[in-house]
Parts: sequence; structure tokens; C-alpha cells
Amino acid sequence: MKAAFLLEHGGPEKIQFGEQPKPVPKADEVLIQVKACALNHLDIWVRQGIPAYPVPFPHILGCDISGEIATIPKTARESLFQEELTVGSEVVVSPGVACHNCSDCIEGYENQCPEFKIIGAGTPGGYAEFVAVPARNLAPKPRHLSFEEAASFPLTFLTAWHMILTRAQLKFGETVLILGAGSGVSTAGIQIAKMFGAKVIAVSSSQDKLDHAKLLGADLCINGSKGPFHKEVRKLTDGRGVDIVFEHVGPATWEESVRSLASRGRIVTCGATTGPIVSLDLRVIFTKDQSIYGSRLGTISEFRKVVEAMRLQKLKPVLSKVFPLSEAAHAHKFLESQSQFGKVVLKISPLN
Ligand SMILES: [Zn+2]
Repeated sequence: MKAAFLLEHGGPEKIQFGEQPKPVPKADEVLIQVKACALNHLDIWVRQGIPAYPVPFPHILGCDISGEIATIPKTARESLFQEELTVGSEVVVSPGVACHNCSDCIEGYENQCPEFKIIGAGTPGGYAEFVAVPARNLAPKPRHLSFEEAASFPLTFLTAWHMILTRAQLKFGETVLILGAGSGVSTAGIQIAKMFGAKVIAVSSSQDKLDHAKLLGADLCINGSKGPFHKEVRKLTDGRGVDIVFEHVGPATWEESVRSLASRGRIVTCGATTGPIVSLDLRVIFTKDQSIYGSRLGTISEFRKVVEAMRLQKLKPVLSKVFPLSEAAHAHKFLESQSQFGKVVLKISPLN
């Protein structure tokens, strides 16, 4: 099969395009003919090589997959969530893989499974004509979405859903501050927070991205290039601050994020794109009953809720640009330029 793959870590130029062996599904897996696969920052980290994601070479990246079921081994049939799924069904794939046997999995926290992996980081991914994935990870593709649109929502919307609803426990009428408004996870965060009755304030250093954020439903916008955003937050909330800060940036925004919080406010973080270490004045946190929540991806049951919200058109994918699979290296360069609003997607099939 044709695939974009790595033989060593490094820059975008390390992504090669050529032949790789077609994967053979394990007992609980199905083979998917990939139609589209979206890029994520995770792909860049795995490509560059970070200790959290050791990969054997050759390695195929990509966790956000849409396609058609190519084969279903008999052993995998009972793991299919929807019985009507069959060979040829159009599907989207939940990106997290867990053991489904340990105490965390049995209690419904499979994102905390000791064996938890993300497709394309811990297993071969979707920058290829075929990928083998666990049967239980499949959901029917919402019919109104193209394969490219369908590939552009799993990781980001699942992450944002888990952050806002499961971890930070958004309540109707609360105010949510969404940082980095042009990123994939933030475009998901804006929509999910609005869907559940929040007032959303979006922050970006790009006016163009803020204009897009408004179209997605953001009530208020702050241009972070014009000064500390926490001062604007205080002005926009009559001095009170926000109930939830949606964080994935890290040290570049952390201090201002804490200073933006209202009493009983929560910071929920899923990433650290500017580095892992921050400083924190504990006195502020404990005197104001504030909380900090970590958040890792999400569960398959949350994924099915995201797919249902997509099917009902309560949420919509945000697609920035589509590249052919053979131009995966260019797609990585484009993602790293940070000029996109929304997702960068590889069109896999038909190849061109
Ligand atoms: Zn487990």
C-alpha cells in the first residue's frame, strides 16, 4: 500500500512517501481503507522524537481517521459497537486505544489505562491507504460530512469535550476563556462551551483568527498581542474573572490564565505547547477555592457523544486545508507555520 512514513526522527523532510506493507488486523481489530487523515501537533512531536512516544521504524503517523471498513475478522465482530457496521460502511475512528481489562478501563476511565496509546503515536497510524484499528473504536461517519471533514474532528473534539464537560464540569451560564482560538482544540472548545450554554471569550494574537472564532460562536474576543489578556478579561467580566480557562499553551500564558480566574474558577489543561514548567502562587489558588484539572484525550463513550452531536449538526468540523498524502511533508510545514484556522487534512483515497 502507499503510505507516508518515517525512517528516523527529524524535520518535515523526514516524511517519505512510498510503499509499506498492508497491516494485518489483530483479533479485535478491523482493517480500514483510509479516505482522509487529519494532522495534529502530536504528529509533529512524534516526528521530532520525544521520550513520551518512542516508535519503531518505519513508523506511520496519524490518529484522526475516516474511511471505509475493508475487512472485519470474525474475532472482531463482537467488539463492534454498532451491529449494522459492515464491510464498506463509512466510519470515523476514536483515536485512543486501551486494554479494556484493567481496573481503570472497567471503571470507564480507559484514557487512564496503563496501556493507553494513541493511534499513530503508539501504533501505526492513518497516513496510509490502510490502517488496522480496534473494532470498538469505530462509529458511523455522519452522512452530511465529507471524509475530509469527518477526519478533522475526532482528536480535538474528544479532547475539548473531556476538558470542558467531564473535567471542568461546565455549568449553564458560566464564562469560559478559550486560549489560542485558532487551534483545532480551541475551535472545538468554543463550540462545545456554547452548545452547553456558556459565555465564551476567545483569545488569539491574530485578528483574523478572532474573526473566525466569532463566526463559531465566541461572544467576546481579546487580541492577545495588544497586552496582557487577564486585564481585558477583568474588564469584560466586570472585574469578576472567568469560571473556566481552557489551557493548552503552558508557560507563555499560564500566569495570565491564573489571573483571569474568578473565585471557584477552574483551569483545565490538555497540553503545553510552549513548555512543561510553570510557576504558581498557591496562596491565590487556596484563598479563592480555585482548581487545576489535567485532562487527557477522552473515552470511547465520550467519542460517541461527539459523533452524535456532529450527526445532529450541533457541532461542526473546522477544516483549514487539504493536502494529498504524497505531500504530507508540506502539510507538516503548513501546520508548523501556524497560519491555519482549524484542521490540516491529508486526502488519502483516491490517491492523486
Ligand atoms: Zn486498561
